[in-house]
Amino acid sequence: MTNSERRPQDGDCAVATLDDGVEVIEPRDVPLGGPRAMTVRRTLPSRRRSLIGAFCFADHYGPDAVAATGGMDVPPHPHTGLQTVTWLFEGRVLHRDALGSEQEIRPGQLNLMTAGHGVCHSEEGTVRLFPDQRRLHGVQLWTALPEATRHGERAFEHVAEVPTFDADGARVQVVMGTLGGATSPARADTPLVAAQVDLPAGARVRLPVERGFEHGVLLDAGELTACGAPLAPAALAYLAPGRDAVDLVAGDAGARLVLLGGAPFEEDVLMWWNFVGREHDEVVQAREQWQAAIRGEPEGLARFGRVDGYDGAPLPAPALPHVRLRPRGRL
Ligand code: MN
Repeated sequence: MTNSERRPQDGDCAVATLDDGVEVIEPRDVPLGGPRAMTVRRTLPSRRRSLIGAFCFADHYGPDAVAATGGMDVPPHPHTGLQTVTWLFEGRVLHRDALGSEQEIRPGQLNLMTAGHGVCHSEEGTVRLFPDQRRLHGVQLWTALPEATRHGERAFEHVAEVPTFDADGARVQVVMGTLGGATSPARADTPLVAAQVDLPAGARVRLPVERGFEHGVLLDAGELTACGAPLAPAALAYLAPGRDAVDLVAGDAGARLVLLGGAPFEEDVLMWWNFVGREHDEVVQAREQWQAAIRGEPEGLARFGRVDGYDGAPLPAPALPHVRLRPRGRL
């Protein structure tokens, strides 16, 4: 996924503060760039909160009727210092990247790309590519890499089947980290967790969680109250550290949600476009090197590589703002 917001931290989103360390972050609509724009609902980063654990970006999209919208078509674009976590509820997406990966993803599977120092990828979920595709629906999350690995090698992993378990009638798929004793094989460079939870109508579920983690509950569909906070679809409940469990209560329609969380990320991060760094100058350099990669210059290609097989031009970086970019604290 690519970030077309010029100033991602300044989104127009409302935050209601509730008791007991619970905040509700309402989503804002963001059109993705590219020739066929698709709109996503973004809750991270928001005006008030940049990170939940290492998760620094949360986009929810669909269900989109692919025939009407054209589906997802995100040309090659770069990333640094982060992981992209692709998780679908419906539909299919084809991922290609600078490692030569060409991987189709379906619901219940994880595509996890670790940018390290630099990578580029494309994401396509169009009718042209998948003629029988009707609907596209999923989330994309980013994790910020810690200092120890953010300059490292690029990597990609596809997890064809994640561990699952049942909890009080709910079905839990463990996308990353450990939950309920089940551990995903996916790489995580800081302590974190991500899971899909499907609750039947009227279900009340108490999910034991790591006490030191902060958590987010992103409602996909249905009716849900998370730790006392009623949520509308695409809203995200933030839950401060210090909980032994996350309480989920589904309404008559049942509920499907994504739980994410992790140890509070102690490093200040600077996010601009598709780059996660720490300082203005390194983001400027990443931008210049991506533009060089687009021109086929060796310095740029060494940093980001190239995507083979995508039918179209890569996405150029937007212009930098006329002010120095500053890192943000955790809140
Ligand atoms: Mn991307």
